[in-house]
Amino acid sequence: MDQPLIAADPHAEIREEVRKLCARFPGEYWRELDTRRGYPTEFVTALTEAGYLGALIPEEYGGAGLQLSAAAAILETIHAEGCNGAACHAQMYIMGTILKHGSPEQKQRYLPGIASGELRLQAFGVTEPTSGTDTTNLRTTAKREGDKYIVNGQKIWTSRAEHSDLMLLLARTTPKDQVEKRTDGLSTFIVDMRQALGNGLTIRPIRTMMNHNSCEVFFDNMEVPAENLVGVEGKGFRYILDGMNAERLLIASESIGDAKWFTEKSVAYSKERVLFGRPIGANQGVQFPIAKAYAQMRAAEAIVKLGLEKFEAGLPCGEEANMGKMLAADAAWAAAEACVQTHGGFGFAEEYDVERKFREARLYQVAPISTNLVLSYIGQHVLGMPRSY
Ligand SMILES: Cc1cc2nc3c(=O)[nH]c(=O)nc-3n(C[C@H](O)[C@H](O)[C@H](O)COP(=O)(O)OP(=O)(O)OC[C@H]3O[C@@H](n4cnc5c(N)ncnc54)[C@H](O)[C@@H]3O)c2cc1C
Repeated sequence: MDQPLIAADPHAEIREEVRKLCARFPGEYWRELDTRRGYPTEFVTALTEAGYLGALIPEEYGGAGLQLSAAAAILETIHAEGCNGAACHAQMYIMGTILKHGSPEQKQRYLPGIASGELRLQAFGVTEPTSGTDTTNLRTTAKREGDKYIVNGQKIWTSRAEHSDLMLLLARTTPKDQVEKRTDGLSTFIVDMRQALGNGLTIRPIRTMMNHNSCEVFFDNMEVPAENLVGVEGKGFRYILDGMNAERLLIASESIGDAKWFTEKSVAYSKERVLFGRPIGANQGVQFPIAKAYAQMRAAEAIVKLGLEKFEAGLPCGEEANMGKMLAADAAWAAAEACVQTHGGFGFAEEYDVERKFREARLYQVAPISTNLVLSYIGQHVLGMPRSY
């Protein structure tokens, strides 16, 4: 199922190494964590030590200096092997904001630590309970007072907040009624959560249907040194948008990995389960949904590959990043559905891992961007139809 469409896979070696690493973290490991909503510390440590989480950090800062397609291959393989990259994937792409828009001092201060694993940049504070997808209406404020900013407000779904040293935070620095464009007046900060915790920062975990370590985060007069502002004050929304294509392509790669995992499981089970004197996979009612999901996955894979190529060539890739993310999440969900159905009752038994992956795969039709918003992007920005929001 891993055969490339045309050229030889340039990341075959990385995939092989990631496969070996993942083999040390079988289903039992994830199942045990799932029951107690535990964080996969050992898995994240292994990925860090192998250098995978620093894949995109340039070599001059101690990273591997690899291209986005290498990071995509790493995350896809993690998911295709039944593991879950959600515990740490943000570390790969959040640092892009510091790399692209941070000052030389910020890069020097944070990137080597992130590359070595000494510093965890896992938390990304954008979504808020009241504004949701309507990001420019977010209510968290950061007010400049001398050499610091005072932050007040709340974030929701800040994943991995309890397992991160740093957070990339988006807050409003100029009230909406004082800016020309609603996208102005928002700023991006690097928050050192180790210092802030208990000093204006409170974290409250949210129990979700899958093990995702997501949290509510509250800011009550939290102080952030002015030197932690990334780039220019008021331009933070652009910096966040800048990183979104990379994020979407990487999440799409995880969904492609999920679709591959489900399909492999479905195929294997459909061959070994014999009923009415023949393997269930001989029945087209069982075979076709698996085959259809596979075709959907391959189509999504082709779009994501094109998106990665354009991204690496420095070309606009919003269309492919958005379509790839949506198609891959849909393909993973189709493959998940087929997998549960193929397994019959065993699809619901924890020991098969199908139900766990089924819960995990569902997220990506909602986060980091929901399907409707992707369709709006295609309708408005690709097809030129009127704006809906
Ligand atoms: C487990 C989990 C982890 C997450 N991790 C993070 C994280 O680390 N950091 C972070 O900042 N965020 C995170 N998120 C937030 C995630 O990005 C949002 O949940 C997602 O973008 C949807 O926003 P919302 O939940 O506010 O839904 P809403 O914006 O309230 O939307 C609700 C529904 O309405 C639809 N809708 C809204 N507006 C329109 C419109 N104009 N046209 C058509 N349909 C519309 C949406 O598509 C959606 O289906 C996470 C979410 C989850 C569930």
